[in-house]
Amino acid sequence: MTIEIVNGWRFQSADFSVQASGKDTASGIVTLVRSPDDKTRWHDMPEELKDDDYGPPLYVVGHGMTLEKAITDANLKASLAKRIPGNMEYNVCVTCKASDGRAGNLINGECMNCYDTRMRGELVVHANLNRTEVELQRTFGILV
Ligand SMILES: [Zn+2]
Repeated sequence: MTIEIVNGWRFQSADFSVQASGKDTASGIVTLVRSPDDKTRWHDMPEELKDDDYGPPLYVVGHGMTLEKAITDANLKASLAKRIPGNMEYNVCVTCKASDGRAGNLINGECMNCYDTRMRGELVVHANLNRTEVELQRTFGILV
């Protein structure tokens, strides 16, 4: 019997102790955890995303009367689980602190607004880069 675990996930544990205790209507559970790479990426996510009940999970739990069925259920949940956002999406500009996918491309850790402002010696705001008032003030601060 071979039971495959879906890509990006590893077998963590199985618990069929309730069944073993004689309650044959109770299902067992199988827990899968993200593979080491994804686990690292998960831990690198912003805290608010980790705390979000609807955010990408670190573990999934499958239920089933047999180990195979519980793993099949866990696999399904793993394949439906939200993906961990790519790193690009969470670039943070070191100067204006723009983040959450709004920073855009960074050069030396700075967004194009801050980089261009520094290079040209005048305030440069690119229309495609959404900025808050505070972030714009930080960019402007380069010139002060
Ligand atoms: Zn910036």
